[in-house]
Amino acid sequence: MIEKAKQMLNLHYGYSSFRNGQEQAIQSVLAGDDTLCVMPTGGGKSICYQVPALVFEGTTIVISPLISLMKDQVDTLLQLGISAAFINSSLTAAEARERIEKAKSGEYKLLYIAPERLESYDFMDHLRQIDIPLIAVDEAHCISQWGHDFRPSYQRIQRMIGNLPKRPVVLALTATATPRVRQDICWSLDIDENKTVLTGFERENLSFSVIKGQDRLSYLKDFLKKNEKEAGIIYAATRKTVDQLYETLQKSGINVSRYHAGMNDNERMEQQEQFLQDESSVMVATSAFGMGIDKSNIRYVIHFQLPKNMESYYQEAGRAGRDGLPSECILLYSSQDVQVQRFLIDQSSEQDRMAQELEKLQLMVDYCYTESCLQQSIVRYFSDEEIPPCGRCGNCTDNRDSIDVTREAQIVLSCIVRMGQKRFGKTLIAQVLTGSKNKKVLEMRFNKLPTYGMLKDKSTKEITDLIEFFISQEIIAVEHGTFPTLYIKEKGKDILLGKEQIMRKEAVVTKQVAADDPLFEELRIVRKTIAEQENVPPFVIFADTALKDMCVKLPESRTEFLSVTGVGQNKLEKYGERFISAISTYLAEHPERRESAEQSTVSKAPAKKATPDSHLETYTFYKEKMSVDEIAEHRNLAVSTVESHLVQCMQEGMDVQMEDLIPDDYVSKIEHAIQQAGGEKLKPIKELLPEEVSYFMIKVYLLQNENKKRVTR
Ligand code: ADP
Ligand code: ZN
Repeated sequence: MIEKAKQMLNLHYGYSSFRNGQEQAIQSVLAGDDTLCVMPTGGGKSICYQVPALVFEGTTIVISPLISLMKDQVDTLLQLGISAAFINSSLTAAEARERIEKAKSGEYKLLYIAPERLESYDFMDHLRQIDIPLIAVDEAHCISQWGHDFRPSYQRIQRMIGNLPKRPVVLALTATATPRVRQDICWSLDIDENKTVLTGFERENLSFSVIKGQDRLSYLKDFLKKNEKEAGIIYAATRKTVDQLYETLQKSGINVSRYHAGMNDNERMEQQEQFLQDESSVMVATSAFGMGIDKSNIRYVIHFQLPKNMESYYQEAGRAGRDGLPSECILLYSSQDVQVQRFLIDQSSEQDRMAQELEKLQLMVDYCYTESCLQQSIVRYFSDEEIPPCGRCGNCTDNRDSIDVTREAQIVLSCIVRMGQKRFGKTLIAQVLTGSKNKKVLEMRFNKLPTYGMLKDKSTKEITDLIEFFISQEIIAVEHGTFPTLYIKEKGKDILLGKEQIMRKEAVVTKQVAADDPLFEELRIVRKTIAEQENVPPFVIFADTALKDMCVKLPESRTEFLSVTGVGQNKLEKYGERFISAISTYLAEHPERRESAEQSTVSKAPAKKATPDSHLETYTFYKEKMSVDEIAEHRNLAVSTVESHLVQCMQEGMDVQMEDLIPDDYVSKIEHAIQQAGGEKLKPIKELLPEEVSYFMIKVYLLQNENKKRVTR
């Protein structure tokens, strides 16, 4: 049976093999065993029930708590050519009834339902009339009071299963691994605990880092500038910070959306859509954003402020890179945020939970200070698994030099002492040190202090950064009164007395997550256009992994296109032509790309590759008055390949006539467009023409003209 499952994976999804854990889970389900599958976000849980659903007869029921997620999942399945539907509160009663009837007649391979449906006796009755081989309980931790999202209606699942005429196989799935939650799921659903498939908690494509003692706003802006084409989320702790950041970023020309619980439903929906549809690239949000967000091409998650515990952190950061491509998870740490989180805990927790939450907060802070591998500490936090250092995170890759800043520290500290502790904030202190003639400095007569101007070779900004660093090293502390003021901690006193030294590493430079690739950008545009036509988010059409693989394999025929990861039969039929043609056009304009790909043929599929003289063979058929389509059919090549052959023939001066390739009424249109857009680049010409006029026709027209000129000269 697992062979059949592999075939399904290949045929529908276009993936060549199962990932770690998937095969085990699927095997267990196919063998008829109730199973618990624990995998981190992005691990590929959906495949674990979707593939068995394809192998089994009947309709697999998927219980899922999130309406938005259901819709994306169903859209994704429909794109793969798999019949599926959902029933939840977003439907009218009539729509729901229609889908139930269809389900009874066996029309769907998968039917997604919200758990609340199980509260209706009528609905249970309908379910009894459906042939159900498998029930997948997604986000199964919702069943447990110990989980972070307890849902009372999940507790009805077991009774529902008991009511069915034939007991289906049950597969529970979750990313939450705490033993207590796992146990609860198994008990509630009557799953043998030994039938648990647990993959490691490491996310091999994520690199974690913590940035301390640096100005976070300038770090953030710099990062966004370097990664403006990529999508990412910025999490902040409070609504106010979200709003402030949103405005600041918008002012610096960044295409940003925002999301927090203080906005009304419509506004939130609108902003979320913008982000999902790739219309904005950055989402600034509180932790209210992200549940049920399936967007797979999020390249970075930045925490602008400290999250409240490791559970929230890993869940939020884990939304990066679900497609498996390298992604960044960056935490911008400032010790003042510990206060903010303490305050929030104080506001929201009941007395008896407070101690526990403060302890969790402390562990979060410890994470920010650890000098060993960050991924390792995360995995250690969540499980008893021990992994080797990841080699990717900020700590594993840190090779910055340290410089001695003891003298600067002494100057700053003594300035604070002289100005009075717990009286002023970092900006005024920095101004005194630079020797500023600011009104307040003069009024307070700080210009008479011996430390006045002692760091005048630095800017105010450099000094506030330095103070920020001293705060992160617990040399200086912040007192939060009406406004934050500074005072000196124990360690700072030792430094002042010359008993201790302090070293500072150079600032961390921001990274570019993914290299720019103009072909990738072209393909992104094709994907976006299709997504708009089909009214689904772009990542539902193709994941970034598929586009990236196209950029490597440069498929120009159907067979080659099918070898791209994420391309199954259905997507080949629906979108193959459009992507192949975009790639061919790109290659026609950038022939050097093909050469460099051929030099590194590592991953080029062993698909049918045209021989060097292949265009001559095409030419022979052309001379026999066969049309482009006929030649393609006859030679079993993509239309675009045949077209590129004919272009090559024209370039080599062979007798190929424009009249054979472009319908008469297009010729004058093309001519007109070229007059307007010039004859240099294809794209601006194409944009002036109706859809049906292809790049190929424009190219042919231009070549014919060139050849004519050459002859008359
Ligand atoms: P989860 O639900 O565990 O967070 P998903 O099921 O959404 O993860 O899968 C994450 C991504 O990985 C999806 O884009 C999915 O298509 C892809 N994926 C899953 N299994 C495979 C596989 N065997 N090969 C390649 N990609 C896969
Ligand atoms: Zn590491």
